[in-house]
Amino acid sequence: MQPSPGSLTGLRQGNRQRVLDVLRQHGTTSRPEIARQTGLSTTTVSDLVRVLLDEGVIVELAGRPEATTQCGRPATLLTYNPARGGAVGVHLAHDHVRLGLTDLAGNVLAERSAELNVDHEPAEALAYTAVTALDLIARAGLKPDAIAGLGVALSAPTSSATGAVAAGPILPDWRAIDVAGDLERRTGLHVEVGNDANLGAIAERRFGAAQGTDHFLYVMLSDGVGAGLFLGGRLYEGFTGRAGEFGHVTVVPNGYVCRCGNRGCLETIAGVRALTGALTLTRGARTTLRDVIDLAAAGDPGARRVLADAGSAIGAALAGICAVLDPALVVIGGETSQAGAALLDAARDALATAMTPLREHPVRVVAGTLGEQAQVLGAVTLVTQRMTLL
Ligand SMILES: [Zn+2]
Repeated sequence: MQPSPGSLTGLRQGNRQRVLDVLRQHGTTSRPEIARQTGLSTTTVSDLVRVLLDEGVIVELAGRPEATTQCGRPATLLTYNPARGGAVGVHLAHDHVRLGLTDLAGNVLAERSAELNVDHEPAEALAYTAVTALDLIARAGLKPDAIAGLGVALSAPTSSATGAVAAGPILPDWRAIDVAGDLERRTGLHVEVGNDANLGAIAERRFGAAQGTDHFLYVMLSDGVGAGLFLGGRLYEGFTGRAGEFGHVTVVPNGYVCRCGNRGCLETIAGVRALTGALTLTRGARTTLRDVIDLAAAGDPGARRVLADAGSAIGAALAGICAVLDPALVVIGGETSQAGAALLDAARDALATAMTPLREHPVRVVAGTLGEQAQVLGAVTLVTQRMTLL
């Protein structure tokens, strides 16, 4: 029977959920920090934590007193009990699949990846995902019923409410596929699906460069270019789930033809294929993104120019978004973010130049700290945040 919200049991369950939410958000935390974040009294927090410890839902991290109490004593850190279970996250990127098994706090226990033609071979990608997820769980000695679920990051506009790939020219081979239903049938796990840029934003806020920030943009630079918008402390997906899809706004009138059918989209300047393609005349047809980044780091003027042009185009495109949304921070993620200053400095300059009359201080632009794990960790968060541990 569900307790009524006003009853003593209902109040206690609500408080317990708030304590668990703080743990989920931070991975590890302490009693004083929980009290601060929830506004509950230290006595209430201590009682709830003792019950959760007795039940084995959480554990104390011995020997890692990183926080301090108000009177300056070290506070014991708490985390989810790894033995209690975990979750699996998968990133179905354009040309590879990456899976990670984590505990409920989001610590990665095992990882696996493979190169696959995800864009055009959905059946193969889904089969690999299902088999690998079950194998990771079995090898970790976990039972499938101890797994909160399988979170999936898709490189296409996706509604997290329905998990459906939005209609349009992006990932046409995936449009008719019920990704969650297919993977649930294959694995028996609960499955949630989200857009990879949105999940990157969720992960960088929980574990990475945007911790404690309620207003920021996560820009994912990969084969595609897209953003996750985190506004007012929550993800903003827009009316049709396409919020942040700014890779297909025109930045070069009559520029190169894009995979969406338009000309001169941001992706035709800043997508991976644009970066490598720009160097094929001088460096050969097999130039990879790694080559471009390494050449730029070694001072090659052509590679530096290509990355700077991409950064400038991104910064200019971000100016309009930042003028409208007023974020505190822009986090740059995705594989191209490994280019570092060669790309980020140009993006910062272009953004600051375009916004100078509007801002007292420029919007901070930083590289994500989670790298290519961001989408897997965001996908894991998608399933662990919705799970009930009562
Ligand atoms: Zn386009």
